[in-house]
Amino acid sequence: MAAVLSREATLFKKEFPITDNHMHLDPRNGEGIEAVKKFVREGGKNIFLVNKLTKDLGLSGVSVENFARLYEETIKLAELVSELGVRAFPVLGVHPAEFHFMVRQRSLEEAKEIAEKALELAAKHVCDGEAFAIGEVGRPHYPVSNEIREACEALMLYAFELARDADCAVQLHTESIDEAGFTAIAELADKAGLRRERVVKHFSPPLIKKSRELRIMPSLIATRKNIVAALEQGTRFLMESDYIDDASRPGAVVSPRSVPRVTKKLYAEGLLSEEDIWRIHKEEVERTYGVFV
Ligand SMILES: [Zn+2]
Repeated sequence: MAAVLSREATLFKKEFPITDNHMHLDPRNGEGIEAVKKFVREGGKNIFLVNKLTKDLGLSGVSVENFARLYEETIKLAELVSELGVRAFPVLGVHPAEFHFMVRQRSLEEAKEIAEKALELAAKHVCDGEAFAIGEVGRPHYPVSNEIREACEALMLYAFELARDADCAVQLHTESIDEAGFTAIAELADKAGLRRERVVKHFSPPLIKKSRELRIMPSLIATRKNIVAALEQGTRFLMESDYIDDASRPGAVVSPRSVPRVTKKLYAEGLLSEEDIWRIHKEEVERTYGVFV
């Protein structure tokens, strides 16, 4: 029998379109492009690049103009990333923690108005072909008052309506959810008239069976444990690092290398087949976002 290439070498040869579904880059407070180089060295090919917060740009005060600058910067960053041979798809929106901050700076009504306009601007960038999804939007992952929670729900519904009209996906940030939480998200998508397949639950638990039934797309943090648990229920999911690129919080993040690394490791162990990798990193990504990777 002829010498067999190691699985690692085969992986490299086949150039799987390894996709990180949720990454932030922050050239001011973190590594910026250097983080992408780490991703590339491990075999990464595509990134869904989610904007950071306006304060990370050093902007003070709360305004639609600040969101406009944040979005512009994210789109420019995606162009820089593409020079490294990685495709970066900008994902633009009002992070729920940012919205919470806005409420504290202004009144609830004013914050809502600004957030709505900022979401409209995100949708416009999608329509112009400069961004590929709205997000991350949703609810803070920590407990908040009912008033804030309701405002977040209303903004989520609005983001879904904008996504329906722009024909794009939405990346959702929420508190940790169970099966009932997935069902509530599916119902909200129905209410907005957004195809459920367009809703991506970022930082999802490995509830692959339930999310498949409900047609919501889960995106899982690329840890071995998480992905192995998911694979017990199927391969209909996306993978993400949720890299936050903040030098002041080095322990708070999974490495930008994690998606390609965990994929390669599970492939080498025989837990992920070639077919699984194509499905997770390409087919599901293309179906969800309506892009080619
Ligand atoms: Zn995020």
